[in-house]
Parts: sequence; structure tokens; C-alpha cells
Amino acid sequence: MIDNPPPLISQQELRDRVRELGEEITKDYQGKDTLRVIGALKGCFVFMADLIREIKIPVRVDFMEVSSYGNQAQTSGNVKIIKDLTHDIAGEHVLFTEDIVDTGLTLNFVMEILSQRNPASLEICALLTKPRKMALRFPVKYRGFEIEDYFVVGYGLDYKGYYRNLPYIGKISSPEQLPLFDEKARFS
Ligand code: 5GP
Repeated sequence: MIDNPPPLISQQELRDRVRELGEEITKDYQGKDTLRVIGALKGCFVFMADLIREIKIPVRVDFMEVSSYGNQAQTSGNVKIIKDLTHDIAGEHVLFTEDIVDTGLTLNFVMEILSQRNPASLEICALLTKPRKMALRFPVKYRGFEIEDYFVVGYGLDYKGYYRNLPYIGKISSPEQLPLFDEKARFS
């Protein structure tokens, strides 16, 4: 069996912080007609599912998928849209949710595109941010946790497609040295 990575952020810490974020967002958007919460697939889906249930005003959701790391543990610099939104966001209050901001390259790319679609407002909610992020053109308004420069998995975040179902955030110091998830390792 492949061991689970050591926890960096526990289930309870995630629950508490997500609840706080939900309360903050609820307060800020109170009185607005509607809030469109957009998730960046695939990493955001667990966080976003928990977050929207802590937001106590009417929300609608949509999803976008952009290429970022592929199977590598570093940003390629090649960001492109794989799946676009299914709704027009013109005139809507939009909250873009991201699992993790590392260099900020993906976020800058997506936000540039979304801002050109004339939403009434556009803000970012990121569960995790890392210290080496570049100058973000759009600041992260709602942040779960700022973490050190670990490669992390769990709570929706993957390594080569695995670990998304880990209920906490685990840290992997050097992903290059992980077993390659070969059949033998996976089923032994
Ligand atoms: P950025 O463009 O900010 O460098 O990278 C953002 C994307 O890279 C995230 O949406 C996520 O998919 C991936 N990423 C960045 N850091 C990590 C990490 O520590 N763990 C995992 N699993 N993905 C990461």
C-alpha cells in the first residue's frame, strides 16, 4: 500500500476555516441579487462543495477547467482553457474559487478572461496560497491558509490524479521522489 502523506491541515481546521470564509462571503454579498461561484476544475470541487454550503445567500455555480500542471509538479507556463463556463457571467457577481495559488500564473490567466466578460463584480477565493506567487493582477480577497512551499495533496488536490479523496491536506516534500503508482505498488 502507498502510505498517506502526513497532515499539514487537518479536517477540523479545514472545516472551521471554510465556515469562516462562508460567513465572511455571506456578509459581503448580503443584499446582492445573486452570486455566481465558479470553480476551477478539478482541484476545487471538494473545497467548493463545502464552501457553498457555508454561504447563506442564493448561489449558482459554474465550472471552468484550465491546464496547469498536467502530471508534473511544476507550472508549465502553458495555460489554456480545456472547459469553458456554460453560463454568461455579464452583469453577475462572480466569486472565482481556486484550490491553490502557487506562481499565480493560472489565476492571472483565468481572471483576465473572466474580467473581459463584464461581470458586475469579480473576486477570488483561494483555499491555499504559497509564498512564491508572482504579482497577482487580481488580489485574493478570501484566503483559507497561506502555506510554506510544500507540494500538497488531498481535499481535492491531486498527485497524478490520486489523493483527491484524502479528507485533509497532506504534504509531500519532494513529489519527484514519490513512487510512480505502478500497478504493483498500488495493489500490494
Ligand atoms: P500556479 O499557476 O499558481 O503556479 O498553479 C496553480 C495550479 O497548480 C493549481 O490550481 C493546482 O492545480 C496546481 N498546484 C500548485 N501547487 C500545487 C500543490 O502543492 N499541489 C497540487 N496538488 N497542485 C498544485
